[in-house]
Amino acid sequence: MKVLYQYNKSTCQYEPISFKPSYRRRKAILFWLGVFFISVTSFNLYILNFDSFDEIILQVKNHQLQKDWKKIDLDIKTVDQRIKILAQNDDTYYRSLLSLNPLSGTQRQAGAGGHSLTLGETMPKLQFVNEHYARLLILQQRIQVQMESMKELEEAARAKKEMLASVPAIQPVHNKQLERLHLTYGERLHPLFFIWRDHKGLDFSAARGTPVYATGDGKIQNAYFSSSYGNVVYVDHGFDYETRYAHLTSYSVSIGQHVKRGEIIGYVGSTGHSKSSHLHYEVLYKGSQVNPINFFDRSLSLEEYDKLISRN
Ligand SMILES: [Zn+2]
Repeated sequence: MKVLYQYNKSTCQYEPISFKPSYRRRKAILFWLGVFFISVTSFNLYILNFDSFDEIILQVKNHQLQKDWKKIDLDIKTVDQRIKILAQNDDTYYRSLLSLNPLSGTQRQAGAGGHSLTLGETMPKLQFVNEHYARLLILQQRIQVQMESMKELEEAARAKKEMLASVPAIQPVHNKQLERLHLTYGERLHPLFFIWRDHKGLDFSAARGTPVYATGDGKIQNAYFSSSYGNVVYVDHGFDYETRYAHLTSYSVSIGQHVKRGEIIGYVGSTGHSKSSHLHYEVLYKGSQVNPINFFDRSLSLEEYDKLISRN
C-alpha cells in the first residue's frame, strides 16, 4: 500500500499520514458514485444516439410490413377494378341479352353504406388497417351482389332455353312429304260447305299416313275425335303457346304425355270436315289463333330437320 508523508514543523521531520477509516469509506463511496454517474450518462448517450438490436430487427420487420401492406393495397385496387368490369359486362351484355334490367347503383352498392356491414367491435383498431378492412367488406358485399345476379342470369337462361325449345318453331310435316302448303290464313271459302269461313290455320297436303311432328316441346292437352276436326291433338307448350293438329287418320299420343319437338304425334288423314288428305295446323297464343307461318324456323336446313325428327 502506498504511504503518504507530511512535514511536521514541531519535530522538523516527515511523518507518515495516517487516514481515519471514515475518510477512506467516504472516498470509496465518492469513487463508486462517480463510476455510477459516468455509466448512466454513457448509457443514456448510447440510447439516444444508437438503436438497440431489437430496434434494428423491428425496423427491418416494419419495412417488410410496409412493403406487404402496399401490395395488399394494390391487390384491393385490382380486385375492385375487376369487379367493376364484371358489373359493367353483366349490365351491358349478360342481363340485357336475357331481357333482365341492369342493376341500379343502389343495388350494386347494397350494404356498402355500412348498414349491413359488421362494423364496430369486429373492426381492427388501427386507423389505416381499419380503412382497408372496410374496403374489403365493401368488396365482399359487391361480390355477393354479383353472385346473386349470376344466379338470376342462370335461372333466366334456363327459362329462355326451355322457352326456345317449347315455342312452336318447325313445320309439322316434312317438306319431302309435303305435296302442297295452303297459305290461306283468315277468311276463305270452306271446301265442303262452300261458305265463307274464318280459316285460322294452315293446311299441309300430304299422303294419308304421313307422320305429323310436334312443333315444340310440350304436353298433350287433348287428343280426341271431333266431328269437325276429326282426330285432333292439342299440345300445350307453356309460355301461353298451344298448337292443334287436325284431320289426322290416327294419333299416337295420350293426354298428359310430354312430347319433344320433332316427335311423331299422329299421321295425316282426312277425318272430320275434310275432303282430301291434309293436316290442318293451328298455333294459339294466349288462347287466340295466330298465323303459324310466323313460327317456322326458316334457318333450319333439310338436314337439320331430318336430324331433329330422326329421334323418333
Ligand atoms: Zn284447315
